[in-house]
Amino acid sequence: MLPFARVSIIGLGLIGSSIARAVRQYMPTVRLSGHDASAQVRETARRIDLLDDVADHAGAAVIDADLVILCVPVGAMGAVAAEIAADLPADAIVSDVGSCKTSVAQALGGVLPPGRVVPAHPVAGTEQSGPEAGFATLFQRRWCIVTPLADSDEAAVVRVEEFWRRIGADVERMAPDHHDLVLAVTSHLPHLIAYTIVGTADDLEQVTQSEVIKFSAGGFRDFTRIAASDPVMWRDVFLSNKEAVLEMLQRFSEDLSQLQRAIRWGDGDALYDRFAKTRAIRRSIVDQGQDDAAADFGRRHD
Ligand code: NAP
Repeated sequence: MLPFARVSIIGLGLIGSSIARAVRQYMPTVRLSGHDASAQVRETARRIDLLDDVADHAGAAVIDADLVILCVPVGAMGAVAAEIAADLPADAIVSDVGSCKTSVAQALGGVLPPGRVVPAHPVAGTEQSGPEAGFATLFQRRWCIVTPLADSDEAAVVRVEEFWRRIGADVERMAPDHHDLVLAVTSHLPHLIAYTIVGTADDLEQVTQSEVIKFSAGGFRDFTRIAASDPVMWRDVFLSNKEAVLEMLQRFSEDLSQLQRAIRWGDGDALYDRFAKTRAIRRSIVDQGQDDAAADFGRRHD
């Protein structure tokens, strides 16, 4: 039996539209409704037939749903929860896809009925935004981390976990604060570094912008992909996961200072040891199926 029959998606961008497409593909009998704050996005969603019903108001989109998934930037979660609260059916479960979980737990927990809120975070995405950027297979073999609140109903958590499995994800449960710490290292800090490096290269006076683009081989080019990620989403991530990010940034700065010292003193062994260790980490990511083993991320060179 399917875990849900009527799913409502609020926020029809990359993640919301990918969920809609995945539901259509893997659970075609589920009825899909949804809403986006942007009239242009709603119009696009109707044109590409993303959902059975695109509502002009968030309340109207959830009125007969048994699962509501909030797919808006983290900073907008509380406002959307307040907008739908009065129209939510008594037995509906509310989940979300936000990249930070402690702040979302606070934003939703205070506004929505106790027991019915089951936050989650699919660790899958691209640097694209908007309803046309989504695709049905985005969550295949990607992790979805489910972070129940202290009062989340166990049966509701199990149904949300089953929902994510049905659309291809591997599911793991975590406490919200542990999630935020793990993701600060694996996702938030790398984005911050990418935003910094690309900005620094762009600011360099001795190197013109055309040279940066022309010679953007390997490393830099991969950073530019990450640094092209949605500015609103990432602004909200850093403001919401402030403490964990600052903690990781402190550790990163200390490690960077060690490498700086090794370079200054010509300590080749220290550099070699560090690079050998990180190469092994890359290998284990590929071995676990979380990335492509092809050289240069499988880019064509012909
Ligand atoms: P996106 O493509 O920019 O889509 C977000 C959509 O939500 C936009 O259409 C936006 O409209 C709309 N929106 C904003 N405020 C709203 C409100 N109050 N009510 C209704 N709609 C509203 O972003 P996304 O990449 O799908 O990200 C959505 C969520 O997924 C975020 O919480 C993010 O942290 C999380 N997430 C993202 C990724 C990723 O790689 N992108 C991965 C995992 C999780 P406007 O454009 O008009 O503001």
